[in-house]
Amino acid sequence: MNNAERFAGKSILVTGGGSGIGRAACLRLAAEGASVIAVDRHLEAAEMTAAAFPGRVVAVQGDITVMRDMERCVDEACSRFGKLDGSFNNAGIGPAELGAKGKRTAEFTEGEWSKIIEVNLNGTWMAMRAQIPALGRGASIVNNASIAGLVGIAGSAAYVASKHGVIGLTKSAALEYAGAGLRVNAVCPGYTLTAMTPSDEGVGGMIPEGRLGQPEEVVALVAWLLSDEASYVTGAAFNVDGGFLAQ
Ligand code: NAD
Repeated sequence: MNNAERFAGKSILVTGGGSGIGRAACLRLAAEGASVIAVDRHLEAAEMTAAAFPGRVVAVQGDITVMRDMERCVDEACSRFGKLDGSFNNAGIGPAELGAKGKRTAEFTEGEWSKIIEVNLNGTWMAMRAQIPALGRGASIVNNASIAGLVGIAGSAAYVASKHGVIGLTKSAALEYAGAGLRVNAVCPGYTLTAMTPSDEGVGGMIPEGRLGQPEEVVALVAWLLSDEASYVTGAAFNVDGGFLAQ
């Protein structure tokens, strides 16, 4: 249920805001009063997100693996909205995008392995590296990890390693900045219907809820973690997976 005032006066940056979970996050945060910077490597995709809330959601082209892009996105938030109050570092890639789906550890090329780590882990760090100096007391960072950040998955070692890294990064930053009033948490979605997981592919039967998740069901948790309601929550990683990891 939306609360139109929950993010009133807040400025929040979302990476990967052009699709899937990131787009749903931009739309929910804006609907609840936030000013949103929707960052994506594909400007047209971010612009499609922004079109739903002209002026409230601003599309910015940015690649999370390029430090100057991440700095420019933070500058854009500060110049457009006067400050930055939080971020959802959500952009990421899966092995399918590289044609490496299902490869075992010794079957990855060096390029495939490095690319997945570069985007999912290094890119999340670069986004945080640019954001943290701009964030004041009461700010909140949410990083998008995965159930793959919590357990091993055969045929997905690079993605699993990258997402375990995101959770380690999240916990360490939470400890470092707790005294500065900055909270840092991670969400761990299970199989969620987006461009990355476009169909059931037979996994629905493996999920206690019997279906894949919707992006909005992940975003409900993200919005809570970004809000002041989660004021005592930091350094944690939360599953939103239809019960998958409870098995
Ligand atoms: P998606 O493919 O629909 O969206 C990802 C977005 O990130 C795209 O708009 C893409 O252009 C953008 N992006 C990718 N690389 C980028 C880069 N280098 N710089 C800037 N933008 C970039 O996928 P999604 O499912 O919404 O994925 C979002 C996040 O959720 C990812 O981190 C993914 O690992 C995580 N996740 C997804 C699932 C799932 O089943 N869909 C499950 C667990 C975790």
